[in-house]
Amino acid sequence: MNIPYLNPHIAVERLIKQLRAKGITSEEVLNALRNVPRHLFVDGAMYAQAYDDNALPIGGGQTISQPYVVALMTQLLDIDKDDKILEIGTGSGYQTAVLAQFSRRVYTIERNRDLGEASLKRLREMGYVNIVFKIGDGTRGWVQHAPYDRIIVTAGAPAVPAELGAQLAENGRMVIPVGDRSFQQLEVYTKDKSGIKKSIVDGGVVFVPLIGESGWKNS
Ligand code: SAM
Repeated sequence: MNIPYLNPHIAVERLIKQLRAKGITSEEVLNALRNVPRHLFVDGAMYAQAYDDNALPIGGGQTISQPYVVALMTQLLDIDKDDKILEIGTGSGYQTAVLAQFSRRVYTIERNRDLGEASLKRLREMGYVNIVFKIGDGTRGWVQHAPYDRIIVTAGAPAVPAELGAQLAENGRMVIPVGDRSFQQLEVYTKDKSGIKKSIVDGGVVFVPLIGESGWKNS
């Protein structure tokens, strides 16, 4: 087998430079992306493209998210090291690993069993011990461990699932792409004593659909 040449140390620095130019300012977030070897989350045939700022296929019709979008959503979450995070849509586990760099615990849910189990195995082999994983419909959240300081949804939703709003802690923050199946906008929700406030991030994103009881009904 021909393994395409890649020097991850050089490639990741080029990527970090691009992310800075696109407006990622948090050094913590940039360092987290620097510390997670993205080439280990993609198929060997795609090693050479692992540090391009693009989404890539990971099988089952799903994708590993674009690094810029991973960085932007992580920056928007504004994570504190003591935060408990819920992630919906483990995918390859790349975003999960980025979150696990600087938060207390990440709970992550994936509906595709094959993808999820492969990602869990990868994350365990990489030594992550602060990630708790389950297979299931993330549109229902994970009530046993609620409330969460931060919630991130990495698939496109038709609307915010009510259960996720309910499982967000006071002073919590949720980032979720909302729109139709082909185009979404990132919405940021913050919760305080007086209720939940919403803001919309300029520009659009394209995610695979969030499928489930409080999401799209089929793929
Ligand atoms: N952030 C991931 C990464 O870095 O690799 C990519 C996530 S991928 C764009 C979206 C994932 O959400 C897919 O793996 C898909 O199977 C999953 N998904 C879709 N609906 C879901 C649901 N209701 N609950 C949990 N996972 C879901």
